Amino acid sequence: MKAEDWDELAVTPDRSLEDLVRAILPQLGEDPEREGLQRTPARVAKALQFLTSGYRADIPKIVNDALYTVKYDEMVIVKDIEFFSLCEHHLLPFFGKMHVAYLPKDKVIGLSKLPRIVDAFARRLQIQERLTQQVAQTIQEAIDPVGVGVVCEARHLCMMMRGVEKQHSGAVTSAMLGAFRDCKETRDEFLALVNHRMNGA
Ligand SMILES: [Zn+2]
Repeated sequence: MKAEDWDELAVTPDRSLEDLVRAILPQLGEDPEREGLQRTPARVAKALQFLTSGYRADIPKIVNDALYTVKYDEMVIVKDIEFFSLCEHHLLPFFGKMHVAYLPKDKVIGLSKLPRIVDAFARRLQIQERLTQQVAQTIQEAIDPVGVGVVCEARHLCMMMRGVEKQHSGAVTSAMLGAFRDCKETRDEFLALVNHRMNGA
């Protein structure tokens, strides 16, 4: 496909995506006209648009609407933020929980915004490592805290469903910035809070 053709697709993304999905079905050995599949291309296109809606998320707006200046210097931690993402290698889901913490300097961010930041990056084609980093980096840039820690636990359907490396289908990644990277005490406090929950689950 030539570059101009891709531009063409970008103009009418829904319609074209639907047509592309319809074109996939015979390649899989299916009849796109079969009753149960007739509306499938439209449904898949809609689902894919939603699952990649993070590309269209306005992150500065999500973040800036909820910044508060406060005197608070204890660790803020939000655990078990559920997320669903798509692995960029197979376009299959990976999903799990994220634990996000930071040590404020002079600003905090509304707690309800943390899951929205996670969704904004999860609803893209991702790898778990980058997703974890992007969440940490966004918080770092938004409130310039003393440090940020993010731990992400996920299961990958591309490994679970394809019958390869089933024993490694669960992966844990982390991103540690500032004090969470430099200060063992801070990092240990965070990991103890997260691990307590993980082991008890
Ligand atoms: Zn994959």
